[in-house]
Amino acid sequence: MECPKCGSSQVKRLPPSQISPHPGYQCGECGIKMRSSGMLFVYLLTLLIGIAIGAVMVYMLIEEDGGNRPFQAAWLGAAGLIVAGYSVMQIARPVPRPQPKTDEVE
Ligand SMILES: [Zn+2]
Repeated sequence: MECPKCGSSQVKRLPPSQISPHPGYQCGECGIKMRSSGMLFVYLLTLLIGIAIGAVMVYMLIEEDGGNRPFQAAWLGAAGLIVAGYSVMQIARPVPRPQPKTDEVE
């Protein structure tokens, strides 16, 4: 794989994080972070779920005062927004270029 920014082949896979088992890659040359190319759909789905959770919790807090568990509702709402934000960050990241072959057919 190659870095889309500086063209370096020093692209390392990032270790799994608490949020995602496939957090993506980082360039060892310029430090830019990239997402796994096959993860776009997963992040889009995560984004939708995060937004849905956040929206429901915000709605509950406003309309029902969080029911009888306002703190839990607020925490879940915040978690949903964090997950949504994380997904947006990942989607916005570039994808590493596949290693160019010397004599590429096609
Ligand atoms: Zn780079």
